[in-house]
Amino acid sequence: MSISQLAREIKESATLVMAEKARILREKGEPVITMAAGEPKSKAPIDAILACASKLNEGDVRYTPTEGTPALVKAIIRYTEDNYNKVVGPEHVMATAGAKQAIYNLMMTIINPQDEVVILAPYWVSYPEIVKMVYGIPVIATPEDGRFVPRMEDITRAVGSYTKAIIVNSPNNPSGAVYPPDLIGELVAFCEKKKIYLIMDDIYHKLVFDGKKAVSAYDYAKDDSENSRLIVINGVSKSYAMTGFRIGWVVANKKVTATMVKVASQNTTCPSVLLQAAAAGALNGIQSGVEGLRLTLENNRNVMMTELSAFNGVTCIPPDGTFYCLPDFSAYEKDDIKLANFLLEKALVVTVPGSEFGAPGHLRLTYCGTIKEITEGVARIKWALDPESPNEIYIGDRKCRRDWK
Ligand code: PMP
Repeated sequence: MSISQLAREIKESATLVMAEKARILREKGEPVITMAAGEPKSKAPIDAILACASKLNEGDVRYTPTEGTPALVKAIIRYTEDNYNKVVGPEHVMATAGAKQAIYNLMMTIINPQDEVVILAPYWVSYPEIVKMVYGIPVIATPEDGRFVPRMEDITRAVGSYTKAIIVNSPNNPSGAVYPPDLIGELVAFCEKKKIYLIMDDIYHKLVFDGKKAVSAYDYAKDDSENSRLIVINGVSKSYAMTGFRIGWVVANKKVTATMVKVASQNTTCPSVLLQAAAAGALNGIQSGVEGLRLTLENNRNVMMTELSAFNGVTCIPPDGTFYCLPDFSAYEKDDIKLANFLLEKALVVTVPGSEFGAPGHLRLTYCGTIKEITEGVARIKWALDPESPNEIYIGDRKCRRDWK
């Protein structure tokens, strides 16, 4: 069968692959613990559900303007003002089918074949593939000292005459790192000077712990003109626990936004009107669920760190936000893909190999599940790897013996 070279070269999303493996095992009745999920467990906000249900009840379910319903666009404008202290007009905003589509359509809008996009490691699995899908070239900037926050020199080293954009994700998936204000300030100044796009993927910006804050790049922007190359991506998936609603958005200059609208008019036409109603409901509704989720995740993070700290040989830089952490397991196994498969087979724990995020030797573990899942998940991993842990363990109602070295 003839499949395009481009499509053949695109990797399947590693996180979705692991989620699928978990689903299949669970369907077979296996007591799987997933530490691979990229979604909070809480229910969608009631305001989202009511708004969506009411739209559905009208029975008038039709296309909307490509950039989104006026109500959602208005809600995004208000969100931007409330959260970023940034006033934008409707011509700067476009709603999308998830932040993922916003990033894809943005790349389609700004990247010519062979243009380079600098991606900061560790990075979200989809960035390099999305860049490749528009015939661009992902260039990975890796912090030299093995930390999770790149230094400016790590980034500038990756920038060349073909660089079109730098994409920043802070709080970061997969490490949970929040980039310091100085770095964000320097990045804004650097991109303004070099006239390259700075894409801030802020999808986790409300999920930050210990009283810290993910600073807004807008606070450092000097170029407030219509040529500003600062672009902010966001969505309801994470902070509002609405992954399945598939609503994200982009805030960009008028020209970029209008071109993205043109692109979207030829692929999805518009996100579903029902889901836009839900997203507007969430953004306009009671916000206490977001803070509740943040607090739960902070507590989960603390439990995860306590459990991991009792694990000989494993080191983990504590995350400042998100619901991910990225412990270093290389003392046990350098090949993290082998390790993730081993843990799935022996301990029925689903993890995601760090090399998928540009962090070999690490595993990405999520802590958006229950406390029991976190403690039992780490206990199972410890049992499978650490010879000093008890030799026997219960996995579900099966007593399992460690009979490997
Ligand atoms: N950016 C990052 C960093 C993410 O982790 C994700 C989801 N895993 C997305 C974007 C996409 O989110 P959405 O569900 O809105 O498409």
